[in-house]
Amino acid sequence: MRSYALVEFGKPLQVIDRPDPDPVGTEVLVRVTRSGVCHSDLHIADGYFDLGDGEKLRMEDRGMKLPHTLGHEILGEVIAAGPEASDAPVGQTMLVHPWIGCGVCEACAEDRDNDCMKMQALGIVRDGGYATHVIVPHPRYLVEIGDVDPSIAVSYSCAGVTVYSALKKALPLREGEWLVIMGAGGLGLNAVSIAKALGVERLACVDLDPEKLAAARDLGADLVIEAGQGDPAAALAEGTGANIAAVLDTVGAPATAAMGVKILKKTGRFVIVGLFGGALKLSLPILPQRALTLRGSYVGSCGELKELMALVRAGKVKPIPVTERPLCEASQTLDDLRAGKVLGRVVLTG
Ligand SMILES: [Zn+2]
Ligand SMILES: [Zn+2]
Repeated sequence: MRSYALVEFGKPLQVIDRPDPDPVGTEVLVRVTRSGVCHSDLHIADGYFDLGDGEKLRMEDRGMKLPHTLGHEILGEVIAAGPEASDAPVGQTMLVHPWIGCGVCEACAEDRDNDCMKMQALGIVRDGGYATHVIVPHPRYLVEIGDVDPSIAVSYSCAGVTVYSALKKALPLREGEWLVIMGAGGLGLNAVSIAKALGVERLACVDLDPEKLAAARDLGADLVIEAGQGDPAAALAEGTGANIAAVLDTVGAPATAAMGVKILKKTGRFVIVGLFGGALKLSLPILPQRALTLRGSYVGSCGELKELMALVRAGKVKPIPVTERPLCEASQTLDDLRAGKVLGRVVLTG
């Protein structure tokens, strides 16, 4: 097998060739045919997340060892199974749920692997999908895609399930209330599309880039606001009648979070999934006085990915723009993503 591996933090990926792995126990071997390139891969490749005020969360401290194969949006053909995975769908193309927990804690027992404190996520702790092959620990993490285009299906395992799980925390809305989505990148565009599939009638999207906002509009956003023009918070208040009950921040930068909290109505809910980094300065009396809820949401559970794929397979979720590139362009794609040159998702094909 060949992988495009992170050998040194902050450096280009390198090709590593080694023998194809043999699945043992409950493991299955997947021949990767699609691998989505996610924004968080940039942070992992850099080796840290910015916690604000000069503090960093280092990947080494989260258990990552180099060389490491990035890529947590993985889809491919199941080609072999270990002796304890006899029910694995060998020969079928499946989407992989990469958010795998320790298997023994309270969260894992409730099938909330994404809330596990010792996650073994593919592409983050275990080797991931920027490769020709990947080992998945158990067939229960394989999700059927039906007749959905594999290049469309693949990013639902991260960007899709992340916003699906977050939207479940941000909704429901009362009649006339608005949902605001901060950011129109891979997460933000999926959020627009999935929120519409979930029946949200009033949805605004905020971004700096007019081209990305045009894509949000195409996916069903009722109002789009250019963050770099004039006073975006005032424009949102005017466009929504100051009736914003929920904000989903898919960027997670100090500016987006500050605006998100500011624009909410009393009893509003602010849910953050973006990992851009930084810190939020928050005036404490506004929390009780405006009875706000602030919460984070991290990826999603395998059950939520299955629920989302049922919506997708029913044709209810409009796909975000996707560009296919060959797997060997993995490193270049990370550079393009860093430079803000990617609309929607790049999917590596093998
Ligand atoms: Zn991701
Ligand atoms: Zn666990």
